[in-house]
Formats: sequence, C-alpha cells, structure tokens
Amino acid sequence: MTCVLIMLDGLRPDAISPERTPHLTTFMQRGASTLKAQSVMPSVTLPCHTSIFYSVPPQQHGIIENIWQKPQPPAKGLVEHLYEHDKRTGFIHNWEQLRDLNSVGTLYFNFFINTGYELDGDDIIAETAIPYVQRQAFDFMFIYFASIDVAGHLHNWMSERYLAQVARVDALAGRVIHAMPETTTVIIQADHGGHEQTHGTDSPEDMTIPWMIAGPNIAKGKMLEVPVSLLDTAPTIARALGLPAAATWQGCVPTGIWDT
Ligand SMILES: [Zn+2]
Repeated sequence: MTCVLIMLDGLRPDAISPERTPHLTTFMQRGASTLKAQSVMPSVTLPCHTSIFYSVPPQQHGIIENIWQKPQPPAKGLVEHLYEHDKRTGFIHNWEQLRDLNSVGTLYFNFFINTGYELDGDDIIAETAIPYVQRQAFDFMFIYFASIDVAGHLHNWMSERYLAQVARVDALAGRVIHAMPETTTVIIQADHGGHEQTHGTDSPEDMTIPWMIAGPNIAKGKMLEVPVSLLDTAPTIARALGLPAAATWQGCVPTGIWDT
C-alpha cells in the first residue's frame, strides 16, 4: 500500500468541471471528496504547506509568510513521523521553499527543479513523477504542481488563461494518476484559492479549496459532508499507510472516507 499527495497550488474548486477537468472529475467519481475544504490563514503557500505537513495552524507553527524557519515545537512533521515508522518518503516539486518541509535525513528521494514560476514548468514534474509512481519505490510521495497559481498571479484567478492552465494541469495530473497501480491511495488538493491576482486573505475565494481522495476501501463517488481542513491531510495519509496520527497533530481523518 502506498500513498501519493498531489498538490495543485492555487486551484479553486469552482474551476473544476467535467469539460475543463475530466481527470479530476473522474477521480472524484472514484473516491470521496469535497469542494468546500478550508485553507488556513494566512492563505499563503508556505504557511499552508507547513500546516499540511505539520497538522497545526500557522499561529502554532509560526510560519506566516513564504520564508522558511523551523516550525515551533512541539510541531511534528509528517515526513519525520513516517520515517520513524520505517516509511520511505519521496518529494517531486518545483518550488524550492518546499524542500524544508522535511528534516535532513528523513527523505528517500527528492527531485527539485526551479520551474515553479513558469507556465510550462509542471510538464517536467509529471514526466519525472510517472516512472516513480510506476515503480512504487516509496511509501509516501508528494508531487507538487505550481503553475495554476502562477497563472492566477499573472492573469487573475478564474480568468480565461487561468482556466486554460487548470485544464493543462488536469491533463498532467491525469497522466500521473493513470500511471499508478490501483493499490495507491491518492489525495489531490489545493493549498489555497485566489482572487484577482493574489491570495492570502480570509475571503471565501482564497480559503475554499478542493480536497479529494481515492484508493483501496475508500468510498466511491461520495461528497464528504463533514468540514475538511488542510490540517486533516497528514492524519489521513498516516491512516492510509496504517499508522496512527502523531500526538501533536490537530487535524483528523474526515468521517466517511473509508468504507470500513
Ligand atoms: Zn500556493
């Protein structure tokens, strides 16, 4: 059993539609999802990712802008937690700040290329991820796509060019998903939304995100009724790998995901 987290940075849920995002739509039919999950404040990429990987809000881990510092104790990271349980984690990403989401010595592999500010910068992420997900040489893998957020900052969230980028990344994510064996549990989510050419506020446009999961024993075609937060991702990944949550994590596994 393996678990993959696919991050679509800056994806608003109202950009998802069967015509524009056929792969995400099919994925939702295969699993459990919500289009009303909530980000954290500030709804900014590094604070959000730190909350995803440490399952505490920014007020607690202390990272409130896109500048890394060590999370405040007693924050415990997902990657460290998995490492302590002999699980191998791999990262594939194109935004360098994310490389510090794990502590030195806990990663099994790490691919970084500095294409996260380019509209075609996610193509190499998908190309690189596909052989890894086929080989399954990991227990948990994080795959990060930056370019939807880039299109929002360049052209406005929900503009024609933003939506075209969403379609492009849907196709890339679809190729990665199709390369995986069915035994993989996959979570796909955003870190925040956006409005005009920015994000970071507590407005619904910035705070509301898609969050979806599919895999063995997971409810199919289910819309989750319970509130889902960024903080819930780490406990859900641990559960998918048969592990308990770390004691410091504040999120929980959303009710209704697993059939059993
Ligand atoms: Zn972001």
